Amino acid sequence: MNPDRRPLIAANWKMHKTLAEAVSFVESIQKQTGPLGDREVLIAPPFTSLKEVGDTLKEGGYSLGAQNCHWEQKGAFTGEISTVMLKEMGCAYVLVGHSERRQLFGETDETVRLKTAAVIAAGMVPVVCVGEVLGERERGETFDVVGRQVEEAFTGLSAEQMAGVVIAYEPVWAIGTGKTATAGQAQEVHGYIRARISSLFNKTIENNVRILYGGSVKPSNIDVLMAEPDIDGALVGGASLEVASFTSLIEFNV
Ligand code: PEP
Repeated sequence: MNPDRRPLIAANWKMHKTLAEAVSFVESIQKQTGPLGDREVLIAPPFTSLKEVGDTLKEGGYSLGAQNCHWEQKGAFTGEISTVMLKEMGCAYVLVGHSERRQLFGETDETVRLKTAAVIAAGMVPVVCVGEVLGERERGETFDVVGRQVEEAFTGLSAEQMAGVVIAYEPVWAIGTGKTATAGQAQEVHGYIRARISSLFNKTIENNVRILYGGSVKPSNIDVLMAEPDIDGALVGGASLEVASFTSLIEFNV
């Protein structure tokens, strides 16, 4: 962890929690943790809870995010939600290109690029997810795959637009499987992504971009992950659904 980059612990609730459960969760978590000091927490509930969760997030350092968006501002796209609508709900962040969107809902590098640009244009921060599947890791293709995903997501952005963007490295084989990349494996890819960002943009962006790790992050492994120099936070699925485990993650020690 680099002290110049504010650590970000992000909860991706996926398709979990009713409205009442979501509100009660964020009330409890804020009661337990209070103001966050040097760290930031992002809650990405289902669309149906965004407004109320946002209204309930009162402590400093907590932000609201959506799990997906469409790249057009409006139009005949049944079932979709635009960045303008998310901004109106109070979102500061939008997850883009999560592996479940890529694998189950046809997200491509091209739609990731369009969504990333749309989120930035709407004045929010994209959390752009990248990561290799198990076969790609086993064939030694991790850097190629992640490098391609990074390059394609950010093609066409200026350095100014890129400032503030968050990247999440999530090896797909570690998501929801209980298998975590070792801190060394994660750091290796984070370092690679940071170097790639430097060659696409510049040293300032390289130094400032926050890169989160995601994939079975839990209270027992957060400290060792956060101790790595290029890991600036975590994107958490399963362990973000329980108040006790998410509180421990927020209270990680370095
Ligand atoms: C995720 O879905 O982004 C994720 C990392 O899930 P989990 O923490 O459950 O592996």
